[in-house]
Amino acid sequence: MIGSAVLRLRERVAALATHALAAARGERDLAALAEAVWAAIEDERARAPAGDRPGPACRPGCSTCCRVNVGTLAIEGAAVAARLRVDAGAAARARDLLAFHDRVRWLEDRERVADRLACPFLDAGGRCAIHPVRPLACRGLSSLDAADCRRALSGVAPDDDEDAGLVRMDLLQKALHDEAFAALAEALAARGLDARCRDVSGMAAAFLADPGLAAAFLAGARVPLA
Ligand code: SF4
Repeated sequence: MIGSAVLRLRERVAALATHALAAARGERDLAALAEAVWAAIEDERARAPAGDRPGPACRPGCSTCCRVNVGTLAIEGAAVAARLRVDAGAAARARDLLAFHDRVRWLEDRERVADRLACPFLDAGGRCAIHPVRPLACRGLSSLDAADCRRALSGVAPDDDEDAGLVRMDLLQKALHDEAFAALAEALAARGLDARCRDVSGMAAAFLADPGLAAAFLAGARVPLA
């Protein structure tokens, strides 16, 4: 069941991206593509029989997983930037986000966890401030038990404890989002566009800092991130 849903989604996202990227001219078009992909994923999830699958333990304010690097494509960064651009102080926000990205760019997840470098999009209550436009990598994660997450990200488990990093999750949700990410990256590469991913902080900041970046990106420019 997971396999057929994932294959169907991959074809849907590939078709969506191919069509949308051919016509896209700027940030709003990239944001619209991201929204269409999220909708396609939700449609596939809704088609899957719920069966006796346990519900997620994830709740607003539980931000245990928001301390690792979030691989984000340019399309997703543009979607976040489009959302943030309406706020006052966008330029300063972009500078802060870029500074954070510089700090975490070369860190492994375990180093980032140890340094307590939580995602800069977390608000004071531990909620995601960009929840409606969060990246696929965030959307794909769910946990069936918050204790799994705390143990996996505690940073104190011995290296030889193979179970310490295991988090039981909704595998269909994870597979659909991973597949959508891969299909989007392939569609970008097929058009000769920058298909690299960077942490959500940097990818969002790059587009937020330069309102003309989306058009340049669609014309073949690389996102200016190391
Ligand atoms: S973007 Fe939102 S959900 Fe994703 S890591 Fe950051 S705060 Fe968490």
